[in-house]
Amino acid sequence: MFWTMFNSIRVKLTLWYTVVLALVVIAFSALTYFSFVRVLRAETDTNLMEMANNFVVAVTTEQGDEEAKLQPSEDISETIGAFKFRDYQFVVVSYLGNIIAKTAEYEVPGGVKSRDGAFRDYTFNGEQYRVFDRSFRVGGQGFHLYAFHPLADRIALESRLQTVVLVAIPIALLLASLGSYFLVRRSLCPVQKMSEQANQISSQNLHERLPVANKNDELGTLATSFNDLLDRLDKSFEQQRRFMADASHELRTPLAIVRGEAEVALSKNNRSPADYRESLSILHDESKRLTKIVEDLFTLARADAGQFHANFAPVYLDEIGGDAVRSIRVLADQKDIELKFDGEAEMPFRGDESLLRRLFLNLLDNAVKYSRNGGKVSVVCESTDENFKINIIDSGIGISREEQGKIFERFYRVDKARSRTEETGTSGAGLGLSIAKWIVELHDGRIELTATSEQGSTFTVYLPR
Ligand code: ADP
Repeated sequence: MFWTMFNSIRVKLTLWYTVVLALVVIAFSALTYFSFVRVLRAETDTNLMEMANNFVVAVTTEQGDEEAKLQPSEDISETIGAFKFRDYQFVVVSYLGNIIAKTAEYEVPGGVKSRDGAFRDYTFNGEQYRVFDRSFRVGGQGFHLYAFHPLADRIALESRLQTVVLVAIPIALLLASLGSYFLVRRSLCPVQKMSEQANQISSQNLHERLPVANKNDELGTLATSFNDLLDRLDKSFEQQRRFMADASHELRTPLAIVRGEAEVALSKNNRSPADYRESLSILHDESKRLTKIVEDLFTLARADAGQFHANFAPVYLDEIGGDAVRSIRVLADQKDIELKFDGEAEMPFRGDESLLRRLFLNLLDNAVKYSRNGGKVSVVCESTDENFKINIIDSGIGISREEQGKIFERFYRVDKARSRTEETGTSGAGLGLSIAKWIVELHDGRIELTATSEQGSTFTVYLPR
């Protein structure tokens, strides 16, 4: 339970922030505190030394006074009378250890051998002092000066500083971590909202989007990317839905014909063999049509799922084109259409033979299907440095400007009624060009409607050499 708390980014960020801040604040405070204490102590020592020097200078000057010829000890007592400071006390001792003069009740630090120019800490009557030793000579006699400075003020200042630091740091850290916790919580609030919203989104309401609080910050970018993903998903779901709807619609018509025809054939008792033959012929045509649609659907479904395994192998485009033209000749002859193949000598290519054949067949089938009786369809191949260019030219009805952008879409037919009635029986679901486009793209090529008018259309396939 306790450890799960650390799975929260909020808690982790706050902890990291607090730890880093604590290290910085502690290091900074320690540095400041110790530098301050050092300066304070150095200052105490310097002042003590200066006071002692002043004292010695004063005594020496007094001795040098020619008029008042006093004993050195008398001069010392006189000088000490003038050296009255709250924070500095003086004791002068003779070399034998007798106190000559003093400003306050102090015991000369016993047991410690006086050393000229030395500092030491000294406790007397429970009070702490800093002591400076100074030996000096006046009037041919040696003396020893102890300059005292009580440390109470300094100790109070230091401990006050310690208290401030020790109290202020935890309070500052507490406030900072609370502040950072709320800040992080606020910053992460959109994440909470995003995940709540994301949980609501399913295939039923894919059009809903995540809230974007500020599209310029990191979370906004995340939400935008997520929304873009939803856009793409929504689009492809929509495409799938339309595909399903169109597919079932396309299958329904031939199925209805099959059922209707079968019912008619079964309902009458006395039918001639010719009637039965005609019904069977219709059933045959429609089931061929159904098979074609189902095959096309299956191809596209596998292409969409990325499951189509093309067999890439060395092939000759001129051969495949020639074969396709021969297969379509029957249809062309039925409409008295002149069919011509104008191929290059050899067009070696790497591709899937059956798919490429299907590409030619689909385009030629359309060219024948949409050409008027007695028209002309030709396949003209060219090679450029980069591409093989295959033009399928017909003398058909042409495609209007509005339709041109849509003919490669699935299930798109310019004139639904016409395609069904005029066509020769094998196609008409509006999938031929979508499949052609997919095949060309699978071979890294492209297909274009390069020319169209009422005199006919030209589809051009570019395949990379
Ligand atoms: P369909 O099965 O209807 O032929 P396609 O995908 O092959 O489906 O073609 C889509 C539509 O493009 C057709 O319905 C037709 O109107 C138009 N089209 C295709 N090829 C030609 C062509 N050569 N001449 C005129 N119209 C064409």
